[in-house]
Amino acid sequence: MGIEKIIEMVKAAFNVWEWECYIGDNWTEEHKAKDIVISTLEKQKPKRPKVRGLLFYSYHMYGNCPCCKGQVEENWRFCPWCGQAIDWGDDDD
Ligand SMILES: [Zn+2]
Repeated sequence: MGIEKIIEMVKAAFNVWEWECYIGDNWTEEHKAKDIVISTLEKQKPKRPKVRGLLFYSYHMYGNCPCCKGQVEENWRFCPWCGQAIDWGDDDD
């Protein structure tokens, strides 16, 4: 199952839940929870880093995470700082 489909399902589930459970204007906690769930899922979608150059000691590319701007290296599939999946564009899996 693709991540897009999962995000769609989660958003739909939250919408139904909000509609069925609406009891007032105090939605702060619920919206916070929804935002955290959606943004966590969004990070599973690989994004291209901003490539800065080559590391002199390993000949790996390095760059900045598209999400938090932390430094990431070519052989890293996830940003260690924020969990964003990184797409280096070097394979198709
Ligand atoms: Zn990051």
